[in-house]
Amino acid sequence: MYNVKAYSAASAASPLASATIPRRDPTESDVQIEILFCGICHSDVHQVRNEWSSVMPTVYPIVPGHEIVGRVTQVGSAVTKYQPGDLAAVGCLVDSDRTCPQCQAGFEQFCPNLTLTFNGMDKHLGGVTYGGYSASIVVDERFVLRVPANLDLAGVAPLLCAGITTYSPMRHWGVTQGQKVGVVGLGGLGHMGVKFAHALGAQVVVFTTSPGKKEDALRLGADAVVVSRNPDEMQKHTGSFDFILDTISADHDINAYINLLRRDGNITLVGAPSKPLHVSAFSLIMGRRSLSGSNIGGIAETQEMLDFCGEHNLTADVEVIPIQKVNEAYERLLKSDVKYRFCIDMASLKSE
Ligand code: NAP
Ligand code: ZN
Repeated sequence: MYNVKAYSAASAASPLASATIPRRDPTESDVQIEILFCGICHSDVHQVRNEWSSVMPTVYPIVPGHEIVGRVTQVGSAVTKYQPGDLAAVGCLVDSDRTCPQCQAGFEQFCPNLTLTFNGMDKHLGGVTYGGYSASIVVDERFVLRVPANLDLAGVAPLLCAGITTYSPMRHWGVTQGQKVGVVGLGGLGHMGVKFAHALGAQVVVFTTSPGKKEDALRLGADAVVVSRNPDEMQKHTGSFDFILDTISADHDINAYINLLRRDGNITLVGAPSKPLHVSAFSLIMGRRSLSGSNIGGIAETQEMLDFCGEHNLTADVEVIPIQKVNEAYERLLKSDVKYRFCIDMASLKSE
């Protein structure tokens, strides 16, 4: 075991602050990674503040962060895919039982015994896992991802959650050339959703509550932008979408979007507001529409997404910050003031 610098929160009401956490010595199948960048996901905020207490209560202290990119510093004797000096990435999962039907099918994200990157059960050290707001991490090589060499590293980090979470449902629901696709909420997930839908050839419409994000949405690949607080603008799109991705992090009227689907259209929730949403039966019944959810993606699909980003030269649009600004970044996320992902430059941790 060795100790590393990190940022942690001591309670739901505490800010994140400098701390020291233990990491295990790499076992034979482990990869030790020096963390260079870590994205800030809205899920970090939900969990630091224990907003998902009914589903996954937070254990304190918490070290969040599951959008990790870095450089391999050491590997165990049985590791075959990585060597010291390689770039490597880690997303929301660091382990699973590897034997259940979900794991066998490549859906580790649905494994009943998965280990989340933070606030998960740590099989090695006991207690909970600590995430990427830290200097280094040790992960079994099966849960480590390869980073395409041509991409900017700060922009790669958010692909590990925001990227896979938007890529996976679009692949599952067959988003393709010529379809009309809506992306609701232009934050970290939403802006990646726009990039993927555009890259897959869809006609993309962004729904935003922030009129100031209109021009950016078009630059990111949207064909049209609707300010969702304007009912007339919404009305024009009734019954026309093949697929809608809802990334909103807070309570909202989902029926307003269900009504925009065509017959047999699907809306997928990836946003995870803490309170239940109210769904009108009639919005779904009329048009045989469907509502579904999606949780990140499996390891193989995450690698597929990274390779897709390498081929299409896709990364997140990031505002790189030192870790000392992380609490400010959380406040800005809550005001939807993000363009379009905060990403922590971990070199800043050295001065703590
Ligand atoms: P984010 O960067 O904060 O973006 C959320 C966006 O939602 C905001 O930028 C804003 O966009 C919109 N929004 C916020 N409050 C709103 C409100 N009250 N009404 C309407 N729109 C609102 O967050 P994120 O990191 O993309 O995460 C979004 C959600 O997805 C979070 O709940 C997160 O926990 C969840 N998540 C789920 C998964 C999964 O696997 N399913 C993975 C990662 C994250 P506009 O300014 O454009 O309106
Ligand atoms: Zn996330």
